[in-house]
Amino acid sequence: MTTDVTIIGAGLGGLTLARVLHVHGIPATVYEAEASPTARAQGGMLDIHDYNGQPALEAAGLLDEFRSLILEGRQAIRILDRDGTVLFDQPDDGTGGRPEVQRGELRQILLDSLPAGTVRWGRKVSSTRALGEGRHEVTFADGSTVVTSLLVGADGAWSRVRPLLSTATPEYTGRSIVETYLFDGDVRHPAAAKAVGGGSLFALAPGKGIQAHRERGSTLHTYVALTEPQDWFAAIDFTDPCAATARITQEFDGWAPELTALITDSDTGPVLRHLYALPIGHRWDRVPGVTLLGDAAHLAAPNGEGANLAMYDGAELGQALAAHPDDIEVALTEYEQAVFPRGTEAATEGTQLHELLFGDDTPHGLISAFIDDEQTP
Ligand SMILES: Cc1cc2nc3c(=O)[nH]c(=O)nc-3n(C[C@H](O)[C@H](O)[C@H](O)COP(=O)(O)OP(=O)(O)OC[C@H]3O[C@@H](n4cnc5c(N)ncnc54)[C@H](O)[C@@H]3O)c2cc1C
Repeated sequence: MTTDVTIIGAGLGGLTLARVLHVHGIPATVYEAEASPTARAQGGMLDIHDYNGQPALEAAGLLDEFRSLILEGRQAIRILDRDGTVLFDQPDDGTGGRPEVQRGELRQILLDSLPAGTVRWGRKVSSTRALGEGRHEVTFADGSTVVTSLLVGADGAWSRVRPLLSTATPEYTGRSIVETYLFDGDVRHPAAAKAVGGGSLFALAPGKGIQAHRERGSTLHTYVALTEPQDWFAAIDFTDPCAATARITQEFDGWAPELTALITDSDTGPVLRHLYALPIGHRWDRVPGVTLLGDAAHLAAPNGEGANLAMYDGAELGQALAAHPDDIEVALTEYEQAVFPRGTEAATEGTQLHELLFGDDTPHGLISAFIDDEQTP
């Protein structure tokens, strides 16, 4: 290729693209808003699927490195009733296709696999504009600019590249989560650790739930989900951790103490995250010299696929560019023809999953789905 690929965003999607391009000898530069790889905690555990995340890592030549990160036993699933009764308990027998790793560790193997200087840290994009003939100018918060013939928006939910292609913006899904962490759970919080079990816990009621994961070192990482308008959360002072914890816990009045302990005993202040999504079926007409991947292209309410899809998009785009080094437009057309239905399918399945998790029939519909899954050969 005669042009460097300019990637905005060093999340899992942008880094997978940069790595797959590097494997094929194509240079890329990744511009990332954060000041350094350690500027922000990288979130929790991700299950990496054998049909999208793992093939992406294979294309990146990083399967062995990925396997060394797998947290054994974490594919176990428990569903508890709100009184603590175990309704479903599926141990991890080692045959599942969704091994769990820590997101930060996965991002690090991608960073380590790139030539020094590939990622430019502390380069926050403030705007982008078309110059014609497939060229685009990217302006950074410090006023500097770069001009590129191939621009890829891998900059997540609030992409600054997306406006070159589409007027769509993410909308609030009606649901938010509050994150808590209990460290060294087995020793310091044994009842909660026992409730979570070896992998993931779901304790659900219509419109709300407590989901927790056993991460590395028996850290218990919890997502408390609530279906409420944003105003409802705005009335809670999250700068006062005790008051916010008390208010959130009130929503789980009467639930088993080993479940509410996942909120009340948090070693960190509760962190509120509103969940947004792009319209299902988001797509755009081909614009020369620019495309999107991952959340920038098809942000959906968390459904266990987003990070996997972002990596898969990155790998697919990298391979399409490697296959058509002399014709960027052919490569981008091929990539986009597959990315649109892929994003739509995942977001649609995600809506169905959220109905199973938080609909009127929860948790029974979810249990049936897991049982059907177990029985599928
Ligand atoms: C609570 C929660 C739980 C989730 N759990 C899972 C899960 O279990 N499994 C799963 O597969 N997915 C999960 N997801 C979804 C997943 O996190 C995303 O789909 C995935 O991170 C998307 O990757 P990405 O590379 O497209 O974007 P991101 O990970 O958002 O990366 C974008 C990068 O771009 C940078 N950036 C943003 N704006 C700019 C700018 N203006 N200039 C320069 N850089 C910029 C950001 O700093 C960031 O580094 C979850 C999401 C949430 C909110």
